[in-house]
Amino acid sequence: MKKLPTKKTGFVWHEIYMWHDTSGFCGSSRSSDFIQASEHYENPEPKRRIRNLLEVSGLLEHLTPIAAKPIDKSDLLLVHTEAYIDKIQAMRGVGGEVDEETPLGIASVDIAEKAVGGAIAATTAVMKGEVNNAYVLSRPPGHHAEPDFGTGFCVFSNAAIAGAYALQYLGAKRVAFVDWDVHHGNGTEACFYDNPNALTISLHQANWFPQDRGAVEDVGRGSGEGYNINIPLLPGSGEGAYLYAFERIVLPALRAYQPDLIIVPCGFDASIEDPLGRMMLIEDSYRKMTRLLMDVADECCRGRLLMTHEGGYNPNTTPFLGLAVMETLSDAQTGICSPNLASDKKRGYQALQDYQKKHVDSLLDYLQSVDNGPLAT
Ligand SMILES: [Zn+2]
Repeated sequence: MKKLPTKKTGFVWHEIYMWHDTSGFCGSSRSSDFIQASEHYENPEPKRRIRNLLEVSGLLEHLTPIAAKPIDKSDLLLVHTEAYIDKIQAMRGVGGEVDEETPLGIASVDIAEKAVGGAIAATTAVMKGEVNNAYVLSRPPGHHAEPDFGTGFCVFSNAAIAGAYALQYLGAKRVAFVDWDVHHGNGTEACFYDNPNALTISLHQANWFPQDRGAVEDVGRGSGEGYNINIPLLPGSGEGAYLYAFERIVLPALRAYQPDLIIVPCGFDASIEDPLGRMMLIEDSYRKMTRLLMDVADECCRGRLLMTHEGGYNPNTTPFLGLAVMETLSDAQTGICSPNLASDKKRGYQALQDYQKKHVDSLLDYLQSVDNGPLAT
């Protein structure tokens, strides 16, 4: 370790999360008469490798382990409908599928509930000040799960439930979400669409997944109007475009909103190396975005910041992105970086392009025209 941590970072992990079995389905390379079946994108490997790199790097022993809280139906009911919960729980012990791309193995319902329990336990530790911040490295992911349906490999809306739990039981009055997974955070959006006590911000590749979701015009409904901020970025966006969107939209919105807790549905699939996105972020980008959110969390809410793991599908590079984020959260330096980092830094179009700047400016113009919300002028 080049620099030991100065922050206490909670870490939720359990080997059982890796036993959520998605085999038998093959994502966009689903088996057909003409292509050999391959592994599901949402397989354990990238996440297990994050955990293992944390150990090998020496950072793991400086993180504070947090055990998942056992949950019951009332926790799921914070955001999900009873009919949806019943549909999922009927697959306990037998498996099935949430939708055609979201299969469940025989243990997956228990594991999905434990992912929720991990997010709740981490939120509790952050809100009570037992840790400065926390990372939940769990499976299955959650940010595509809406109140009454799941999709995109997601079963229960982990981050949304954690936020709702903080509002309901932990004294938070306002919770903000900053979802930087390359795919739109439709689940988190839907769970709070009419609720001004949650500010849901999603940076994502424009009209990528789910299709026809994540438009800037989707600003919330009723008293929640203005409290859903979609930032659909153009394919090929690199660090410059993301940081510009942070500077112009994300950070001003957070400062105006003054949340009691910031939750990041943290996907690493906006990375330049990821097979399920067409963006260009590198390790340093994730370090910078994490740092920016830590700073605004220091300003607004005593540094309370929680990240729940979402996407990130390249088994060779995702671990370094996870390490970069957790090093930053804990204010440590291991001195370890991806062997690809030097070459990735030299790739073209990483800086903010003029057309990207105009695009982000136009998104901000629209958001400022909304009657309510943190960016209303
Ligand atoms: Zn994703």
